[in-house]
Amino acid sequence: MGSEVYPEQVFKGIAASPGVAHGKVYLFVPKELEIPDTPVEKGGEDDEVELLEQKLMETRQQVLKLQKEVAERLGDDEARIFDAHLLVLEDRALIEETIREMRESGRNITFCFHAVAQRYIDAFAHIDDEYLRERANDIRDVSKRMLHNLVGEAHYGLARLGAERVIVARDISPSDTANIEKGKVLGIITDAGSKTSHAVIMARSIQVPAVVGMRNITKLLTNGDEILVDGYDGQVIINPSEKTLFRYGKFQEEKKSLEKKILAQIRRSTTTRDGKTISLMANIEGANEVERIRQYGAEGVGLFRTEYLFLNAPEFPSEEEQFQAYDAVARAMAPDPVIIRTLDLGGDKFPNSVYRTDTETNPFLGLRAIRLCLENTDLFKTQLRAILRASVHGNVKLMYPMISGAGELERANEILREARGELDRKKAAYNPDIKVGAMIEIPSAAVTSDILARKCDFFSIGTNDLIQYLLAIDRVNERIAHLYEPTHPAVMRMIQTVVDAAHRENIPVGLCGEIAGDPVLVPIFLGIGVDELSIVASGLPAIKYMLRNVDFADMKKLTDEVFKLDDPKKIFATAEAFYKKHVSHLIA
Ligand code: PEP
Ligand code: MG
Repeated sequence: MGSEVYPEQVFKGIAASPGVAHGKVYLFVPKELEIPDTPVEKGGEDDEVELLEQKLMETRQQVLKLQKEVAERLGDDEARIFDAHLLVLEDRALIEETIREMRESGRNITFCFHAVAQRYIDAFAHIDDEYLRERANDIRDVSKRMLHNLVGEAHYGLARLGAERVIVARDISPSDTANIEKGKVLGIITDAGSKTSHAVIMARSIQVPAVVGMRNITKLLTNGDEILVDGYDGQVIINPSEKTLFRYGKFQEEKKSLEKKILAQIRRSTTTRDGKTISLMANIEGANEVERIRQYGAEGVGLFRTEYLFLNAPEFPSEEEQFQAYDAVARAMAPDPVIIRTLDLGGDKFPNSVYRTDTETNPFLGLRAIRLCLENTDLFKTQLRAILRASVHGNVKLMYPMISGAGELERANEILREARGELDRKKAAYNPDIKVGAMIEIPSAAVTSDILARKCDFFSIGTNDLIQYLLAIDRVNERIAHLYEPTHPAVMRMIQTVVDAAHRENIPVGLCGEIAGDPVLVPIFLGIGVDELSIVASGLPAIKYMLRNVDFADMKKLTDEVFKLDDPKKIFATAEAFYKKHVSHLIA
């Protein structure tokens, strides 16, 4: 198609990875594999079992090789995706069921493996949980590789991309992308997909724009079509007109000059024009992120989400393994602070191993975070010992998630004392003055923050959860996402209550939910009195730039103004006007 002959068409999906790409389509629709439906020859059953075991081994070796390649090219985090594939290949239940089915039905082992794997995929795909549904994709991906090996056909994935292209696919699995040449992918568009899908993780890590959830875009496009991907707004434009290309070209130029301006300030302090310094820290999920957050100018780790060490592990990490991770971050960031949050499993974060919590009707209101730890004190104490030991080598602080009131905080501290006693008996070193804080993310904690402030050293407000519990809006339900309003007057008031309670007891308050990375909203929260911000690393430069170009006194005035308003939309508009007046003209 050429843009002069065919009109422009605009489609909307979910913005998954930022950026704009313009180029030709590479339609990636792998052809269906034909599964032979032949019976096993009499007496040939053992040979079939041998074939299965041999192909499992072969597949395992391929996956390990891929994992190594991906680790070298993209990093350990991306490579860890393949751990789930290796687990499937070692799953004796699946293997034994395949062999039993072959012996009982008399069909060949390829046919039976396909049938059994399909049953597993269906079972996972129908679970009402996004994380577990994604596990169905892991089984689908690795069983496809295994079936290719059984049938004897090579599995190329996206290795044969050739020229630079925008990949358009129904979905993209880690195996498909493993051999991809980084520079050859301009962008990624998929029919399927959610924010946690592998295609999205991959797109973000190789920093190409992506739009997912396009439903049936693969049916509308063919190889070589001209397309524009807008990963900021989640738009896909087929046959973009000259006008559109010009508009996007200008937009990209502006983005680039803005990035340059912003990045130039990254090493400067986060101080407002009238001299107020704010501590700007990063949220991390693993020790390997430290280098990256430093590049973005993080002045500490305001939230280490330790549950990610537990999520994809076949077994929970030992005290030593945890210690290694915490210690590495503490040393690398010293003397800057590292706030290590104890386990927040449950809600939408379920481990693969023991302590499954995904059978609850309302997991966000269930056995989550500190509640789970207080019921499993061995698990909790193991983590506390690891954190305490890491406190020797840096500025480590410890924080409990999902505290609902003083009783829970006291019980957690009691277990902390026991953990310290155990280390004392072993003569293991730790910082006896380690600071202990509470996340304020449940309304009951916010309402009783005056009591809690007397019992801990700092607060960190987790707005992701505080807003969902305060407004009764499930934070992962896309149908009510429009009702999730950080500028609701109830949110403003609640944050004010917490800040005032903390400051009366002379303890600092951080903000570590996603809104701490929104340059339009941040002035309101700083005007309320929040002392520290902790956000995803890539958001730090924009916040720093904004803060260096405003007066703290003006942010306070803005806060006074929005507290007089009764409507979330009006509050947002006022904050936006403030941003436009003080910041956006500087970068236009
Ligand atoms: C929060 O709830 O705001 C928070 C930072 O924690 P998480 O997103 O891990 O629940
Ligand atoms: Mg939370």
